[in-house]
Amino acid sequence: MNAPIQTRNTRQKDAIRAAFIEANRPLSPDEALTLAQRELNALSIATVYRNISNLVEDKWLIPVEVPGHSTRYEVSGKGHHHHFQCNNCGTLHELEGCDLHARPKLPRGFKYTGHEFFVYGICAACAK
Ligand SMILES: [Zn+2]
Ligand SMILES: [Zn+2]
Repeated sequence: MNAPIQTRNTRQKDAIRAAFIEANRPLSPDEALTLAQRELNALSIATVYRNISNLVEDKWLIPVEVPGHSTRYEVSGKGHHHHFQCNNCGTLHELEGCDLHARPKLPRGFKYTGHEFFVYGICAACAK
């Protein structure tokens, strides 16, 4: 039994999980660090990377690939949806559902399996 270390690790993981739940949008490791530090000041970026990779293994987080940007992570278990990226501050936001119901026109013999779609603009905070 190594209670003190277990407790510290659990607190770190809890703080990082809380950051993702509170933000309610995909976060980069840097963003997760800033938010989680409000709860646990002593967190380091290395700890955040390690916990994110554990949470991805646990399937609690899933990576969100952003064209031309570093990978963000979001809480798993949501239905098919898309993302909005702010051109000014770079934050990623979740869009509800999907309006792309039309099947794209594919070459003969090709099979459709899915699509990727990003929306760009200015977030409410930056638009003020
Ligand atoms: Zn913005
Ligand atoms: Zn879609």
